[in-house]
Amino acid sequence: MQMSSTIPATIVFALMLLGVSFGQANVAMETAQSEYHFKTVPPPAMDDAASKAEYKILRGKLDPNSAGAEALHNDKMPANEDQPGENFFFAAGTDGGCLEIDLGRTISVKQFASYSWHATTRAAQVYRLYGAIGDEAGLSHNIAPGTELTKSGWSLIASVDTRPESKLGGQHGVCITAADKPLGRFRYLLLDVSPTETVDAFGNTFFSEIDIYDADGPATVPIAIPKSSLLAFTTSEGKYRFTIDTTNASDLRDWCERELRPVVQSWYPKIVELLPSDGFMAPSRVELRFQDESRMRGNPAYASGTMISLNTQWFRRELKREARGAVVHEMAHVVQSYAQNRQNARTSTPGWIVEGIPDYIRWYLYEPESKGAEITESAFASAAYDSSYRVTGNFFDFLMRTYDQDFVAKLNSVARNGRYDANFWMETFGKTAPELEKEWRADCRKKIDQAKK
Ligand SMILES: [Zn+2]
Repeated sequence: MQMSSTIPATIVFALMLLGVSFGQANVAMETAQSEYHFKTVPPPAMDDAASKAEYKILRGKLDPNSAGAEALHNDKMPANEDQPGENFFFAAGTDGGCLEIDLGRTISVKQFASYSWHATTRAAQVYRLYGAIGDEAGLSHNIAPGTELTKSGWSLIASVDTRPESKLGGQHGVCITAADKPLGRFRYLLLDVSPTETVDAFGNTFFSEIDIYDADGPATVPIAIPKSSLLAFTTSEGKYRFTIDTTNASDLRDWCERELRPVVQSWYPKIVELLPSDGFMAPSRVELRFQDESRMRGNPAYASGTMISLNTQWFRRELKREARGAVVHEMAHVVQSYAQNRQNARTSTPGWIVEGIPDYIRWYLYEPESKGAEITESAFASAAYDSSYRVTGNFFDFLMRTYDQDFVAKLNSVARNGRYDANFWMETFGKTAPELEKEWRADCRKKIDQAKK
């Protein structure tokens, strides 16, 4: 570790993350995935002392896409995680800035709360909160970059850093209080805001709301939280993050929450485990979005990169039948990631393999009880190993049962690495695909005949 003057600050942040008070102030920090459900941080409020305050940027520049400071006290919260027009944030690529809140008169501030929401790095809050009454000697409202605020009449109240180790997004809530008394008497509060990261230009936090509680003021009223059209959740250990956008299917939101979410949470990591390859890291963020049938051009669902599009009308019809299985199939495409690895590919993977692997996983591992990929008498005549989808899934199941439990993982690995060709079958089984097909069809024939008895 490099010895530098930043170390004391790092220690302070670490202590705060453990909930230790800084100076006189306690800083409670929490994250939520939706609807601002925090355990100790209060929900966003209206009619607080900040509602009628005046806001002024003393250093830095407002981003042209930002709503401006009115977003911080308009009694409205964003409805989803990426709404620049509903948030206050400093300009992209800048190192934040100073925002002054003038309460109009000196009050006894009981607590200070701030809220933010974003999918990734703009969710966290990194700022120092200062206060002043107005008559401090040398109090300055002109803050040049590098100004040491405590030498310009401002008192440091608290330092805030909600950056999670995992750098995941979500809703961040901060509440600053003193143990058993008000924070202090202030007319001016000043946020000295830093970006959460400087790796790219998009590290300035999306602040959605600031609440200041007057110790002598009336009780505040919680802001009505819009029912989000975005369902956001992670796997239990937080490794994979998902969003389901139901803007075009609000009637399906409850079904998504109750029925689809558990399938996604348990099956995405399982599929990742089923389809490993050397050095491969499966996408950690997956988006699902309902789209109108007309935009889907009749497709029930498809995956493009890490985005899964779902046909609203088709899903409404199939809720009790094919809906969940279709999502399992599309999640397998996200994990396959063949297109992302295409650059170094020597060969392109035939479509029947691209579709056969997801259907094998869906019909034989996810929902074997549905027997949806059995070869029927009427389908038998034309069933070929490369018929694609569930017929190929059936062929793969035969090979898994008869020859090699690792076969699908091996096939996926060569396909992902752009190394699949027809020799794969001879190298893996000592037989060509048509030879294996003969054995598979004989097995199908036997099963069909047995079922007749
Ligand atoms: Zn597919």
